[in-house]
This record gives sequence, C-alpha cells and structure tokens, in this order.
Amino acid sequence: ATTASYVQTPNQRRHASKHRFFVVELSQALYDFVIQLLPTAEEMALKEDVRKLLERLIRTIEPDSRLLSFGSTANGFSLRNSDMDLCCLIDSDERLSASDLVTTLGDLLERETKFHVKPLPHARIPIVKLSLDPSPGLPSGIACDIGFENRLALENTRLLMCYAMIDPTRVRTLVLFLKVWSKRRKINSPYLGTLSSYGYVLLVIYFLIHVKNPPVLPNLQQMPPLRPISQEETHIGGYNTWFFDDIELLCQRWQSSNTESVAELLIDFFRYYSRDFSYNTGVASIRAGLLKKESKGWQNDLSNSKFNDARERNRFCIEDPFETDFNIARCVTKEGLYQIRGEFMRASRILAMRPRAIVALSQLCEE
Ligand code: ATP
Ligand code: MG
Repeated sequence: ATTASYVQTPNQRRHASKHRFFVVELSQALYDFVIQLLPTAEEMALKEDVRKLLERLIRTIEPDSRLLSFGSTANGFSLRNSDMDLCCLIDSDERLSASDLVTTLGDLLERETKFHVKPLPHARIPIVKLSLDPSPGLPSGIACDIGFENRLALENTRLLMCYAMIDPTRVRTLVLFLKVWSKRRKINSPYLGTLSSYGYVLLVIYFLIHVKNPPVLPNLQQMPPLRPISQEETHIGGYNTWFFDDIELLCQRWQSSNTESVAELLIDFFRYYSRDFSYNTGVASIRAGLLKKESKGWQNDLSNSKFNDARERNRFCIEDPFETDFNIARCVTKEGLYQIRGEFMRASRILAMRPRAIVALSQLCEE
C-alpha cells in the first residue's frame, strides 16, 4: 500500500507537460510585459520635481505643511503615465477647512503655474485637480489630485507597499498586469460604474492571503506586534490602522510555502472571481477574510424600495483595510458588475485554451 497508487497514463503525462510549458512561458511573458510598462527614471524624477514645486507653493499659504505622495506613485504599483495622488498634511492647529484650502490653493495655482486647475471644494473628499497638457518632453502630460489630511490613504498606501515588498515579483507582476488589463478592457472607471485600481489591488491581495492555500502573503493586520502599543499609536480618526510593517524582520522569519508561478496564480485568480467568489452575499476583506454582507449591514434587500440606494451601493463589496465601514466597490453598478464578471470569465476562457503566451496576453488586453 506504500507504493505509488497513482500512475499517469502517457496521455495524462503529455497533458501535464503541455500545461507546465504553458505556465512557464506565460510567467516569463507576464514579467516581460509589465517591465516595459514601468515608469522611466525620468518620469519618476519629473513627478518628484512637480511635488516639490507644489509643496513650495502650498507653503506660501500654510507654512507648516508637507505634501506627500500616496497611491501608485508611492506603493510600488505604478505604471507609465499614471496619475499622481498627493496629500497635504498641515502640522498646525489653526488651519483653514479642507474646502477653503481647496479654493485658496486653486486660485494660487491658477495664478502661479501652467497647470489646468479644477478645485472641487464640495466633494466627499475635497481636492484640487491639476493637469498639464502633453508636450515633447512629457508626451502624456501629467494629471494630479491634491487632497488634504487624508492620513488613512497614506496608511493604506504603506500597507500595500509592504505587501508588494514581501513578494515583489509575484505580487507586483500580478497587480500591474491586472491594472493594465482592467484599463484596456474598460472596467477601471469608478465614475462609470466599475472598479478603481485600488479595488483591483485589494482583490489581488485578498486572493493571495485568504484564497490561496498555502497563502502567498501573510495577513499583516492580524500579526501580533513586537511590543505592546497604545490606542493613540494605532488609531487614526477612530480607525485601527495598525499592521506589522517590519518587512525585513518578517522575511527573516516567514516564507510562503506556496511556490506557484505568476501564471498559475493569474489563472486561478480569474477562475476564482469568475466562478467562486460569492458576489451576492460575500464581502472581500483583506483584514478579516470572507465576510457576510449581512454582518456588515451591507445586504441588498430587494424587497424594500427604501433600500434601493443601499442595494445600488453594495452590489460588489470590498472592505477598506482600515475604514472598515467603507465599501471600496460602492460605485460599482449592476451593469458595471456584470461587465467586470464578464471580463473575469472571458479571461478565464482565453487562458483555458492555452494559446502561446504572447497571443494570450494580446488577446487578454485587447482594447
Ligand atoms: P492608478 O495608477 O490607476 O492611479 P493607484 O494605485 O494610484 O492606481 P487609485 O485607484 O488611483 O490607485 O487609488 C489611489 C489611492 O486613492 C488609494 O491608495 C486609496 O487610498 C484611494 N482610493 C482609491 N479608490 C478609492 C475608493 N474607491 N475609495 C476610497 N479610497 C480610494
Ligand atoms: Mg492613482
């Protein structure tokens, strides 16, 4: 009974070796594909210059302020020509309200710079939108949003960056590929009812922590701290933002026993979100795993018209890692979700045919 009870037939062996060839080739093609989409050193330097310039200008209004990058420019998931997300922190007690700051700063930038300026003082999060037209030295221009005191965004940027650092090759390749894919397939527009890049990144991390077994990533928010820490150190605006961030130490002590290649993970990612994720009742939480809409009060009650709005907001539920009462996917409409799921299925179908890797990538990302 101890001898091998499973012997492959020649046919099964051929099948397995064809599959191995497919995933090896596809993994390599995925690395090569994302590498050519990374921002150049010049682009990064130019963006840093823009940040410094804007910081200098803002300090003429609020001398004790700092302007920090968040989002993709700061978390290691940036693609060529991606927009800049900036957050202004003001270290003084007497300061203007966010909406007054937006108006004042908007006026100043309009006078002092060549940017097109659009202040949005009354948005849920007041921001100033800036853009520069394309020019020979800057073929795709620059788009930039400046917000104020958005400390939670700075922390979730740092959390995503830590996850990227734990397994740079697999995590960054998957995330960057999915960002390009979702943009080319037109399912990356929260304003049009689909999901933001941030939403897709959370789906990837959720999948790597909670779906894959063994997991590819540990859950940084559930690891015990190295020393006791107080409420003040861990909470921002009532939300617990603590997570284990000593990645160097973590990598000395922990290593994933999951050895799947990027291609295998991608194939499984598409399969999971086209077939297995429970869109109707489930909430994807990187902090706590799969939760129930019901337990968060996010259910979509079809029987009561009073809940129409709640239903529209909670078709697809992805919990923010820190702002746990906030559904990152609240902008996703019925049609948007249909489109997103359709794209997950289309991607699964393409990969199931095991075409040559270059063909697979160009079909997947066809515009
Ligand atoms: P891209 O390169 O496409 O701009 P990105 O990585 O910068 O991608 P964004 O979707 O622009 O991702 O998000 C940037 C930051 O804005 C996130 O780190 C998050 O703090 C915040 N954010 C984005 N989308 C949402 C959302 N739906 N709800 C709340 N915060 C969001
Ligand atoms: Mg961004």
